Amino acid sequence: MIKWKTFAIGCSLALALLLIAQHKPSMPDPNVYRAVIDLTHNVNNHSPNWEGSEQSPFQAKELGNIERDGYYSRVFTTEEHYGTHLDAPAHFAKGMWTVDQIPVERLVRPLVVLDVRSKARSNPDYEIGVQDIADWESAHGEIPTGGVVMAYTGWDERWNSQKEFRNVGSDHLSHYPGFSLEAVKFLVKTRSVVGLGIDTMSVDIGASTTFPVHLFTSNQSVYHLENVANLGLVPPSGAMVVVAPIKLEGGSGGPARVMALVK
Ligand SMILES: [Zn+2]
Repeated sequence: MIKWKTFAIGCSLALALLLIAQHKPSMPDPNVYRAVIDLTHNVNNHSPNWEGSEQSPFQAKELGNIERDGYYSRVFTTEEHYGTHLDAPAHFAKGMWTVDQIPVERLVRPLVVLDVRSKARSNPDYEIGVQDIADWESAHGEIPTGGVVMAYTGWDERWNSQKEFRNVGSDHLSHYPGFSLEAVKFLVKTRSVVGLGIDTMSVDIGASTTFPVHLFTSNQSVYHLENVANLGLVPPSGAMVVVAPIKLEGGSGGPARVMALVK
């Protein structure tokens, strides 16, 4: 009797486990990744800012200190688009997801890194084109469906100088590389990418005044990661990205901790 009961319980358990296994979303197995790479710059008051102002948009003030209060704490203010940050689709498209509304499944995805440093070095206005994607695919295979594609332009070497990072020319426009609209349309329409990333301040080129990539992607529910760091430490293919933006209700974006799990 007891044996039969045990057998029945065992069978039910096995069935339940089988059902769970079948319905489990394909999440990265931590055992197959050898390292976690931090793709995030520190948040401080001396990072380049969009406006190029001397006064940093980030300020932190001490509230409590150990000697006086027995604990340490601060209050801080920042722009949503400062440091390594996420642009939610609501940033350029009314009614689309704000940062808190982006489904978490979209924040853990296969990561593709397009190394365009050699082109960006000779042309700061370089626009990543369909050919760059074709070159990546001929070396590594098709870009995984539903992934996040990041451009490694080498621009983060300039991070410690606002002047060099913004690179404003005599035309009063910034000059740094970005994605072309054509390449982004290809990535979104044929590879269903859910996010774009770059190590500059914008997924559009610095000299853009109309932001065609921002407008297109926002309307397609695609988010951006800007001012990404350390892309040189991530292989072009095979990594997973973990994107952890602040869950700021109604936010157009916000500071994000971005990590790559590498094999
Ligand atoms: Zn932004």
